[in-house]
Amino acid sequence: MKKRKTLLILLAFGLLALAFPELTHQNKDKAVASGTVGKGSLENAWLVPYFGKNYRYFSPVSYYLLNRGYTHHRVHNTILDAYQTCETTCPGVQFRLMECANKHGGKMWPHRTHQIGLSADFMLPKTRNGSAHRLLDHLGIWHYLLSADGRGAYSKRVSIDFETMGRHLLALDDAARTNGLRIKKIIVQIDLKEEFYASPSGKKVRQRGIYFAKSLPRLVDELHDDHYHVDFELR
Ligand SMILES: [Zn+2]
Repeated sequence: MKKRKTLLILLAFGLLALAFPELTHQNKDKAVASGTVGKGSLENAWLVPYFGKNYRYFSPVSYYLLNRGYTHHRVHNTILDAYQTCETTCPGVQFRLMECANKHGGKMWPHRTHQIGLSADFMLPKTRNGSAHRLLDHLGIWHYLLSADGRGAYSKRVSIDFETMGRHLLALDDAARTNGLRIKKIIVQIDLKEEFYASPSGKKVRQRGIYFAKSLPRLVDELHDDHYHVDFELR
């Protein structure tokens, strides 16, 4: 009887592992990105942890069902190193990582890029009356549908925390360099850039010459007011 129970438990674990490969995935060896962020593939992808000390992936559906938490190993390390820096530079902030890439790269609807593990989306941090606001961070995949006005406000009291975004981008830029990458391009809604560059850390990001998209097709522009998209390139 005991043996049968053990077998049943093992079978259940086996089925779970088959249904959700993220539960047993192990990061090892090096990833290989082929092609461009807009058309390509990714082999031996690394999986970003679902959560760490000061960050979480934003949606179980995206992570476990759609399998979109994979990246190139250098991007994986860059993302984690930057969050570690932010433990000091952004105390008390809980970050959210959004979609990365499929396990083997390739198309990932509705994104036009994200195909080779060198792109990642980061949720815009929010503030309410001067302190961190997290309620809207729990929207999961629906977060992509949030809309901010041109000054970065989601409602009367909740708006984008541009200073934290800047601190995170500075950490990401540093981490990219130490991991053999370079930030190639950042996409955020065009109208939001002015407010971002007005923040102290936004100014520093600008001084570093990190490239932000200068114009975007309307739909792409409208989609980038709840997150910022970062494309990396291998150095
Ligand atoms: Zn993106």
